[in-house]
Amino acid sequence: MNSCTDDILKAMADRLNLTYLRDHIEEIISETSICKMNSREILQFVFKKEIERREENRIRLGIMSAHFPRRCTLNSFDFDVQPSIDMAIIRELKTLSWVESGSNILFLGPPGVGKTHLAIGFGMTAIENGYSVLFRTAEALIKELLEAQAQCKLEQKLQKLSKVKVLIIDEFGYFPVTVEGAHLLFQLVNRRYESRSTIVTSNRPVRDWGLILGDSTAATAILDRLLHHSCVLTINGDSYRLMSARKEKLLEENDK
Ligand code: ADP
Ligand code: MG
Repeated sequence: MNSCTDDILKAMADRLNLTYLRDHIEEIISETSICKMNSREILQFVFKKEIERREENRIRLGIMSAHFPRRCTLNSFDFDVQPSIDMAIIRELKTLSWVESGSNILFLGPPGVGKTHLAIGFGMTAIENGYSVLFRTAEALIKELLEAQAQCKLEQKLQKLSKVKVLIIDEFGYFPVTVEGAHLLFQLVNRRYESRSTIVTSNRPVRDWGLILGDSTAATAILDRLLHHSCVLTINGDSYRLMSARKEKLLEENDK
């Protein structure tokens, strides 16, 4: 008589942290028997499911720790409406060779053209491919650094932020940065230089960044490191929201 019950199998799977097997034991037994799988096929089936579950968990955790303000993917970006974007560059960026080499991406352009969408989209692609990602607005990032400094925890904060493989700094240039903030930002950019990638989105051209940073020495040093190995994508199109609104209005008028 076979004394190995489903509960015993579940407990063993749980001890080994084989969560798919633990949660689907009855289903696996019935499916593998209906399909008349041999022992090798059964092992392959179980391993495949377990690997898939781990992969899903890894991506889910990666997305959670990235703190994206919303979910966007590169697949949901309509490149046809932004003809100023060079598709050859996008194809190259999709290979993630820039992450491997610690290079940076700058998405520049007016509001609504999809800079944040693209930054999150590339962040998602990086997570799917096993890299750590963190999303911060420039304002929140600088506030975080200033707070860490005030609490004498700057070194820990810089170390933590320097480890992340892809740091997204969104909305750079919406608010002026204080001299102190610019110095802290420089320390972070300097530590990440040539080994960790940074994606920056900004509605201001690079030539204005000195004004935003309010301190020309720090501005030059930050720009020098960010731009040295970088891809600058300037999007010169219309706001996607405005385009969608116009389209809807036209459709409404057509319906009348
Ligand atoms: P920006 O950061 O340049 O101000 P966003 O990335 O926030 O613009 O885009 C504004 C909104 O329009 C978002 O909801 C975004 O998903 C959407 N969007 C912008 N461009 C596109 C596009 N080309 N295809 C699909 N959605 C887009
Ligand atoms: Mg934005």
